[in-house]
Amino acid sequence: MSIPLAIIVHGGAWYIPPQDRGAHKAGCRMAALAGFDVLRRGGSALDAVETAIVCLEDDPTFDAGVGAHLNQDGVVQLDAGMMDGQTYQVGAVAAIERVKNPIRVARHLLTSEHNMFAGPGATAYAQACGIPLCDPEDLVVARERARWLEYRERGEPPSETVFLGGTDGAFAGKGTVGAVAIDQAGNIAAGTSTGGTPFKPAGRVGDSPLPGCGYYADNVLAGVSVTGHGEAIIRVQLARIAADFCAKLHAPAAAEAAMHMLSDRVKGKGGLILIDHAGRVGYAYNTPQMARAFMVEGMDEPAVGI
Ligand code: ASP
Repeated sequence: MSIPLAIIVHGGAWYIPPQDRGAHKAGCRMAALAGFDVLRRGGSALDAVETAIVCLEDDPTFDAGVGAHLNQDGVVQLDAGMMDGQTYQVGAVAAIERVKNPIRVARHLLTSEHNMFAGPGATAYAQACGIPLCDPEDLVVARERARWLEYRERGEPPSETVFLGGTDGAFAGKGTVGAVAIDQAGNIAAGTSTGGTPFKPAGRVGDSPLPGCGYYADNVLAGVSVTGHGEAIIRVQLARIAADFCAKLHAPAAAEAAMHMLSDRVKGKGGLILIDHAGRVGYAYNTPQMARAFMVEGMDEPAVGI
């Protein structure tokens, strides 16, 4: 039986206020279409994942690339990671500055002898690869500057309740982005990109650039991309757990089982998307919303949800 081409993307699992839901859905739809187009033209799962994530990083709606949250120092520090399910190679950057598309740096690292670069070393690596550096201000949008000023005034980051919408929905969590794809050779790739949590301390790194936590890919099992409260996700290594569940379960059930573990073991909040070794798509979340879109061979339009 041949494996269908497939891609699934997410734009974060938090509270998304009603007025922002259209932009989140539209951004995910465009990214799924762009990634699927790569697959349809015979491109690799790695190319499809990179293309879809670049689309999401370039869309200021999301907490990745341009439009990411600012840290306590008022600076955008980005995390991203990618994995090749055929070779088990990993590429990742943590707390990188002055780069609009950190997923491109992660992709470069897949073919290097190293797996991950952090901080100024990551920026230097990007420059050495010929990836253009930008002015730090080019990553900042007015919405995020205003949010930062508000948190600085208050002197503290938003509480978890506010993160999830609280009672008044004051905080519009915009979410990390991610993608998983399977290509015509049956190769699976997964990646995640984020600005992290709002008003995070400088240097704080969550699950997103860590393989097995924020993403994972193994042709024999599945590809997974995760979003949510990074500190909790790291503790259970959520992406790897979800992939392991695919040894016995189909993608939708594996996604649910992994999310159950996050809730149960560490009371974590978030969501994940995955594609299993047979090309089946799954997703699950325990937050009020998770923006996502997927497209599988035979579909004319991505299925978009929030
Ligand atoms: N997982 C990300 C982090 O903790 C945040 C998110 O997914 O929204 O950095």
